[in-house]
Amino acid sequence: MALGIKDVGLEKCIYCGACFRYCILGVYSDLDGMELKSLVSGVTRIARKGYRSGRDDRIKELLERCTLQGYCDKVCPAMVKPFLRNEIAKKRIKEGE
Ligand code: SF4
Repeated sequence: MALGIKDVGLEKCIYCGACFRYCILGVYSDLDGMELKSLVSGVTRIARKGYRSGRDDRIKELLERCTLQGYCDKVCPAMVKPFLRNEIAKKRIKEGE
């Protein structure tokens, strides 16, 4: 059975930003002025509630840098599954476009 949003463990997230800060690709060192916490909040909101074209465009652009390498799961201190969160958010963006 495919894993879903309930399997991510979002309720445990402390919004520390490690999942993006320590991305193995290094693509989140510059967020074009966005705070890491805002990026985590935005991606989490999209994964939970869907993509709002226009309002979520900056989050979408930043999430496009993620190629789902999965290293984020290893650095999360709270046992969340940010890989799955990002995967679900990417799907919801595709659905909402
Ligand atoms: S998913 Fe984990 S690493 Fe990412 S912000 Fe939440 S607690 Fe931090």
